[in-house]
Amino acid sequence: MKTALVCGGGGFIGGHLINRLKKEGYFVRGVDLKENEYGNDKADEFVIGDLRDSHIAEEVVKGMNEVYQLAADMGGAGYIFTGDHDAAVMHNSALCNLNVLDAAEKAGVQKIFYSSSACMYPEYNQLDPDNPKCSEDSAYPAAPDSEYGWEKLFSERLYFAYQRNTKIKVKVARFHNIFGPQGTWTGGKEKAPAALCRKVAESDNGSFIEVWGDGKQTRSFLFIDECVEAVRRLMDSDFSGPVNIGSEEMISINDFAKMVIDISGKNISIKNIPGPTGVRGRNSDNKLIREKLGWEPSLPLRKGMEITFKWINQQVQQKVSII
Ligand code: NAD
Repeated sequence: MKTALVCGGGGFIGGHLINRLKKEGYFVRGVDLKENEYGNDKADEFVIGDLRDSHIAEEVVKGMNEVYQLAADMGGAGYIFTGDHDAAVMHNSALCNLNVLDAAEKAGVQKIFYSSSACMYPEYNQLDPDNPKCSEDSAYPAAPDSEYGWEKLFSERLYFAYQRNTKIKVKVARFHNIFGPQGTWTGGKEKAPAALCRKVAESDNGSFIEVWGDGKQTRSFLFIDECVEAVRRLMDSDFSGPVNIGSEEMISINDFAKMVIDISGKNISIKNIPGPTGVRGRNSDNKLIREKLGWEPSLPLRKGMEITFKWINQQVQQKVSII
C-alpha cells in the first residue's frame, strides 16, 4: 500500500487532497495545527502538531512514500496584503517548509509536493488588468507584491536545491486562487470567491454588497476538484515544475460579484470601496501544463461557483438559525 503525508491536512485544499488519496487507496496521514474545520478529511491517522517544530516534522514523515507540503500561514487579501501579518507569514511558512523538506529527505521519502502560489510572480507583469503575464518563465527578475509571495519564491528555490543536492524528487506547483466547498468563508482569512458568496448570502433583496477596489482588477479562479486532479497528475508525472495550476478563465472582480448575485437569484447591487486588492490583473497561463501533463482544467467558473455558493449559503443559514 502506498503511503502519503498531507501537511496542512486540516486546511481547505489539504482536506480535499486527503479524501482524494484515500479514494485512490493510499494509507494517508494528515498533520495540522488544527483538525479540519468542516470534518472534511478521511485520513487514516491525523496528528495535531506544529510543523515549526522540527521534531514534529521528523515524527510525521516516518514511513511515508510521498509528502504533500501544503501547510502555510496564509489567507485572502485581507490577511496577506495589509502588511499586518508579514513577519508571521514569512517566519511560520518558511519554518514549515525548512523542517518538512529536511525531515522528508533524511527519512528517505521518495517524492515531495510543494504548493507555491501565483503570488510569487512579479508585480510589473500584472499592472494591466486585461493583459497580465504569468508564464512560468516570467518569475525573474523577482518582484512579488507581498511578503507571502517572497516566502513562496524562497521555498520554491529551497525545494529545487534539495532536488539538486540530494536524492529526493520534488514537485512544485503555483496555485492560482483555488475555491470550493469546505473552505474558509468567514473570520478574516477567507478569499474573494468565498467572501463574495458570504456577502451575497447574508444580504437581502434591494441591498448592496461591498467589493474591495474599483472592481476592474482581474483574476482567474480554479475549482478545488480540478486543483486536486492537477496535483495528483503532477505527482505521478516525470515533470518537477514549477507549473501553474489555475484556470485561464479571467474575470473582473465586479463581473465575478455579478455572477454570484445572479446565481443567488437576488436583486443586489455592488458598492466598490477602498480595500486591499493585490495586483491589477492575474490569469493562469496553461501552456506548460498542457505541454507537460497533456491535461488542463476545463470546468467553467460558473459551474464551480454554483456549487460553492450553495455550500456557503447553507453555512450562513445554519449560523443564522443558531443565533
Ligand atoms: P488553508 O489555510 O486552508 O490550509 C493551510 C493549513 O496549514 C491550515 O489548516 C493551517 O492550520 C496549517 N498550518 C499553518 N501553519 C502550520 C504549522 N505551523 N503546523 C502545521 N500546520 C500548519 O489554505 P489552503 O487554501 O488549503 O492552501 C494550502 C496551500 O496552498 C498553502 O500552502 C497555500 O499557500 C497554497 N495556496 C493556496 C491558494 C488558494 O487559493 N487556496 C493559492 C495559492 C497557494
